[in-house]
Amino acid sequence: VDTRFDRNVRFFGREGQERLTARTLAVVGIGGLGTHVVQQCALLGFGGFSLIDHERLDTTNLNRYVGVGPDDVGVQKAELGGRIVRAINPAAKVLTINGRLQSSAAFAAIRAADLVIACLDTDGARLVCADVAAAAGKPYVDVATDIVSEDAIRYGGRIVCSFLGDGCIICRGIIDRDAARNELDPAAALARNAIYGVPRAVMHDGIGPAVVSINGVVASLAVTEIMLHITGIRAARPVLTYRGELGSVLVSKDTAPARCYHCSDIFGRWVEAGVDKYLM
Ligand SMILES: [Zn+2]
Repeated sequence: VDTRFDRNVRFFGREGQERLTARTLAVVGIGGLGTHVVQQCALLGFGGFSLIDHERLDTTNLNRYVGVGPDDVGVQKAELGGRIVRAINPAAKVLTINGRLQSSAAFAAIRAADLVIACLDTDGARLVCADVAAAAGKPYVDVATDIVSEDAIRYGGRIVCSFLGDGCIICRGIIDRDAARNELDPAAALARNAIYGVPRAVMHDGIGPAVVSINGVVASLAVTEIMLHITGIRAARPVLTYRGELGSVLVSKDTAPARCYHCSDIFGRWVEAGVDKYLM
């Protein structure tokens, strides 16, 4: 008898464990958040992983990525994620995509997955990922850390679980759709910056402050909500915000709008959603 999941089963039962084993996750962004998410989901016993990232590890990542070290600098991040999964659970199926989210290979992986977890740096990428997941009819979990201002008076992160009817990062006002679209169109972003005189994306360029423990808290919140939801212990909270400066996790009481283009109108309607427009 394989007892590796014995302590899981004591929490959420054999059926809960079987549900995790039957699920394939698409994780988009194998970085400071994504390595934690991949590691924990492999330990939980998820059965399949599609890992998407176009970047290679660099030395500035070594303060916070788990499961990697200095010898891995230069290696594709998606491959490192695959190595993390295989080292923990050789039975898991792993697909690595060393390419952009905005690629047909990544879109196919999202369509084949049961749930999509975005651990991304920019709101432009989040908008793409949310739309592709919705069009594919997949639950979507958006994970982000946030350290606002140079003197770090506010720091933490948030997770958003967009299951059917729960709203999404766009209709809940968590990302600014117009700014996200501008990020996807470099020419428009440059024009906008010329008008306003400052780069609007300065806090969302992926090179802001980032530390391992804050990433770990936020990634753990996300994985816990996914685990509770899939094993049937309770429904995921749609929005949780970690406020590190307060030492608090806040539960949003806001209700989502009844209708939203991004999460209800195009949900499960791949052709009508026209997400191929995002392909690069
Ligand atoms: Zn929505």
